Amino acid sequence: MYDVKSKVAEEFISHQEILDTLEYAKANKNNKALIDEIIKKAEAMKGISHREAAVLLECDLEEETQRIYQLAKKIKEKFYGNRIVMFAPLYLSNYCVNGCVYCPYHYVNKHIPRKKLTQEQIRREVIALQDMGHKRLALEAGEDPINNPIEYILESIDTIYSVKHKNGSIRRVNINIAATTVENYRKLKEAGIGTYILFQETYHKENYEKLHPTGPKHNYAWHTEAMDRAMEGGIDDVGLGVLFGLNNYLYDFVGILMHAEHLEAAFGVGPHTISVPRIRPADDIDPNNFEGGISDDIFAKIVAVLRIAVPYTGIIVSTRESQKSRERVLQLGVSQISGGSRTNVGGYAQAEPEDEDTSQFDVEDKRTLDQVVNWLLSLGHIPSFCTACYREGRTGDRFMSLVKSGQIANCCQPNALMTLKEYLEDYASYDTKTKGEALIKDELKKITNEKVRSITIEKLRLIEQGHRDFRF
Ligand code: SF4
Ligand code: SF4
Repeated sequence: MYDVKSKVAEEFISHQEILDTLEYAKANKNNKALIDEIIKKAEAMKGISHREAAVLLECDLEEETQRIYQLAKKIKEKFYGNRIVMFAPLYLSNYCVNGCVYCPYHYVNKHIPRKKLTQEQIRREVIALQDMGHKRLALEAGEDPINNPIEYILESIDTIYSVKHKNGSIRRVNINIAATTVENYRKLKEAGIGTYILFQETYHKENYEKLHPTGPKHNYAWHTEAMDRAMEGGIDDVGLGVLFGLNNYLYDFVGILMHAEHLEAAFGVGPHTISVPRIRPADDIDPNNFEGGISDDIFAKIVAVLRIAVPYTGIIVSTRESQKSRERVLQLGVSQISGGSRTNVGGYAQAEPEDEDTSQFDVEDKRTLDQVVNWLLSLGHIPSFCTACYREGRTGDRFMSLVKSGQIANCCQPNALMTLKEYLEDYASYDTKTKGEALIKDELKKITNEKVRSITIEKLRLIEQGHRDFRF
């Protein structure tokens, strides 16, 4: 039975409720009166339910579809402005005991080189990432209690935070590791992580079990209930996601929103972020072997309707997507992107020889961070390296109430400008610096609070003189 507050996976992600929702969405995809009503509700910018969102995603009416895109842009503009937060993944180890059929790190793959970074190698990777200008990382590691125990992850987090190279520092480490115990989540929280990210891959239990035939990840309930355990362990910023392409996209879209509704109902805090990866080719993985592939149009509509359904949740797009695809979804709701990413173990400090390739997937957007920053500036976005919230204790419901009241924009805009200024001073090419300075000048005018504006101007001056790490 469907119960949004239940702690049992199959009750808060009820298969029957998803099937009923899909049928409802299909039956109403041309129901103009209902679609108009949902759009009207969504215009209040407080979100809509998974059923309502499913109807919008299925909507077949041209005029209404355009209204959905317009509304998504409006919500993006209101809550996130033109700011885009930057991050990079750092793969620590590709040892893995699981059998996920869509990932080249599955344990049956005997020819992919297995690597695990030592603390010294992590230090070198972090220096290389700092030299690019990154401040925010997402740590990735396979599941392997022998090679990648929690102690290894905790030690690695300590190492990363300890590296201070020139003006660089990593100020927020998000973690993407396998589902674990409440006790381990508590340890991660104590180590100072930002968001705990875990992709569900698919919410369809039967397919989930087929896609994960062996290993601890085979256990659907253990995996699906992981965010509840993370919350119990004190981590109140969690990131959801599915791997689009593995399963019927509408099913998983509804699943993500039901998961978000569950977290809100059971813990009072919805997800901090939602990621929207699409399956990509990799070592022994061919996306054509999976039947759920989605077109660029459907991908864009998923982002737009997510933006409408959960206005307070950041949306992340990685370098799995091409420049063109990223450009399209940036306006529709994406608030965070990666740049200059390597998806192999190591690879920032020194490129891997081709015959030692350990990448988890082929990167589609291969540009350097400076090229991505330059491109964002040309499109009128503000690349932001801000990490202020969790460092100021603004996490979980504290963060959400600031976002819901719209107050967060008073922090995001000046923080974006100050961290961009740091980037321009320390890492940017001449052209990027010129474009960035012009943008900062323009964007300062958008800070409506006079006091905040004058403090920001003063801090920008101090950054030019060599001071670093100011935040609101
Ligand atoms: Fe291991 Fe994660 Fe790859 Fe599965 S997706 S094989 S758990 S690294
Ligand atoms: Fe994110 Fe907070 Fe910085 Fe805004 S102020 S960009 S919400 S970390």
